[in-house]
Amino acid sequence: MTASAFDDRQLRSDGSLRHLLSLEGLPRAALERLLDAAQALRPAALGGTALRRRLAGRSVCNLFFEASTRTRSAFHFAATRLGADVLSFDVSTSSAGKGETPVDTLRTLEAMGVDCFVVRAREDGAVAALAAAAKPQTALINAGDGRHQHPTQGLLDMLTLRQAKGDDFSRLTALIIGDVRHSRVARSDIAALRTLGCRDIRICGPASLLPDALELQGCTVGHDFDAMLDGVDALMMLRLQRERMVEGLVPSLEQYFVDYGLDEHRLARARPDAVVLHPGPMNRGVEIADTVADGSQSLILAQVSNGVAVRMAVMLELLER
Ligand code: ASP
Repeated sequence: MTASAFDDRQLRSDGSLRHLLSLEGLPRAALERLLDAAQALRPAALGGTALRRRLAGRSVCNLFFEASTRTRSAFHFAATRLGADVLSFDVSTSSAGKGETPVDTLRTLEAMGVDCFVVRAREDGAVAALAAAAKPQTALINAGDGRHQHPTQGLLDMLTLRQAKGDDFSRLTALIIGDVRHSRVARSDIAALRTLGCRDIRICGPASLLPDALELQGCTVGHDFDAMLDGVDALMMLRLQRERMVEGLVPSLEQYFVDYGLDEHRLARARPDAVVLHPGPMNRGVEIADTVADGSQSLILAQVSNGVAVRMAVMLELLER
């Protein structure tokens, strides 16, 4: 993936973040600073009261134009645990249905004093477009735009990997499996893994679900899951993004599981201490077997907990200036 056009907009001249729009092109120092901050915030993220005043008086608005369970809840908890006022704005019941543009919605809420917008959008680049229309002091966080980026998911995945495998990513072999073509999570993960120095990034899926080769430069790309498992430290599973897919890209869900599902037999071919990640929501029996999802090598619930800490770290960086 080439350097993103959004980089300049998300960084201030002193290297601090103004918005978090993409992990593509985010400097390693900024990425590691956010991971370190999230790691330190973990106890408070899980319900402590010590930080309740850090964002007191600041307002955060969750603006979700697409469904979400864990991302939206994690941002909500992150903001409230830092003492911010949170408005969770349900776009489906708002004036958007009366024809209001997203920019007008943003400006209306800015006029009520919102400092930070957490935005999920259906279209690639839509959050960056809103950031371009925002006031200079307003911060935007991309909570997933189309198939483009999901930066806080990428950060929480890196935090989870770092906790399990240490911070030397150059020694890590990561295998990303499944619907990479439609996945914003995969794009953020690949960008972050590259930035952190991971040298062995393997990408596996049917040809119909992989992006252009240009996007996967430097990765080892293959279609035979069993052939790619040797020496793998981390298996990063992806959901089939059927809401973003044209018909016919996979023959059947049953066949997909046979070819690309992770069960205990496949997992046994990776390194014995390999870990399994999945961003959720999981489709059990489609990309992952119950025995793996709930097994001892699964870090799926650790990812969820880390998601709150990561979002706290991002909000503090953007708002506590
Ligand atoms: N929750 C993640 C996302 O919003 C992954 C997924 O939906 O499959 O991209």
